Amino acid sequence: MKAIAVHPENREFGIVDVERPRLASPTQVRVRILDVGVCGTDKEICAFEYGTPPDGSTHLVIGHETVGEIVEAGRDVRRVSVGDLVVPSVRRVCGRPECTACGAGRQDFCFTGGFSERGIKGQHGFMTEEIVDDESHMHVVPRSLRDVAVLVEPLTIAQKAVKQLHQVQLRLPWQCPKMAGHRTDGHACHRALVLGAGPVGLLGAMTLRNAGFETFVYSRERAPSPKAALVESIGGRYLSSEEVPTSRLAERIGNIDVVYEAVGASKLAFDVMGELGTNGAFIFTGVPGRRGPTEVDTDGLMRSLVLRNQMVLGTVNAGFETFEDAIADLKAFSERWPSAVRALITGRFPLDAHRELLEGKRGGIKNVLAFA
Ligand code: BGC
Repeated sequence: MKAIAVHPENREFGIVDVERPRLASPTQVRVRILDVGVCGTDKEICAFEYGTPPDGSTHLVIGHETVGEIVEAGRDVRRVSVGDLVVPSVRRVCGRPECTACGAGRQDFCFTGGFSERGIKGQHGFMTEEIVDDESHMHVVPRSLRDVAVLVEPLTIAQKAVKQLHQVQLRLPWQCPKMAGHRTDGHACHRALVLGAGPVGLLGAMTLRNAGFETFVYSRERAPSPKAALVESIGGRYLSSEEVPTSRLAERIGNIDVVYEAVGASKLAFDVMGELGTNGAFIFTGVPGRRGPTEVDTDGLMRSLVLRNQMVLGTVNAGFETFEDAIADLKAFSERWPSAVRALITGRFPLDAHRELLEGKRGGIKNVLAFA
């Protein structure tokens, strides 16, 4: 069967022929892959900047954002059934006895660094016709989400971030502040600034809007644009960096309670950190390429972090519950903003288009390879 793989040693990637996988334990399922999303991580792997093949293999089958259908289930499979639509999780435990995080099923917090990630680190991924995996990594998705379920995995980034935001903000009275300019009727009393209008940024904006934040999305292109329209259609506000410099963001928005970074550009992110409001949290989700040191106002940032009780949080996805939460929220978003959710998927392409997509030559928001 066909798969898309990278050969880091030869600096090549493309379609390869691989053996159809078979069940190797009674709790495994075989999944026919339907869609696979192409993301920044896949592009980096295909630029040979990231990614590790499994031990003993010279290639890595890539792809970690997917939806598929179960076509075979081992005799001890209980949670899922043949015919179910599923999204598999990505990260797998390190298996080391000293790792309390992996031991507790929270491999997203793996202490040892020995975790693996399907399609990224040490395990083949989902850009292939069929996969086999344990049922414990499967998340059942309602049929009504068939066309957008490939967004579940990128959505787990925002879901985990916003959940942790609520947990860490328990450190203070995190109700609506009774200040001029703040609403006190229980709606949108906190202001969130999303950096970036790619899939992770826009899914973050939806998550924050749905959680009641007044949400601003900051990105390069000038409005009017399809992305700006999408942001406005979910009740958010779009700001272009061509019109509003980073140094004017707080003046424009008011007290910024949360910055949700989804651009992976560290200089921009640290400049915006200087605009974070009192008691605010800055959440990093992007993984920047290593472009070398850059200048930031460390005195200003450190003063502000201390004197304004700010915090900085980095987050990588995602545990079991976060996947379940993402499925529930994707359903809620699809009911609340059907066209905006559909507009996130800007193209569905046959396998032959893989090179163009993985070399980043196609614009759009989320591009998908259709395997079936
Ligand atoms: C994936 C995560 C993964 C991270 C780092 C992201 O693109 O969505 O599952 O943990 O890359 O490898």
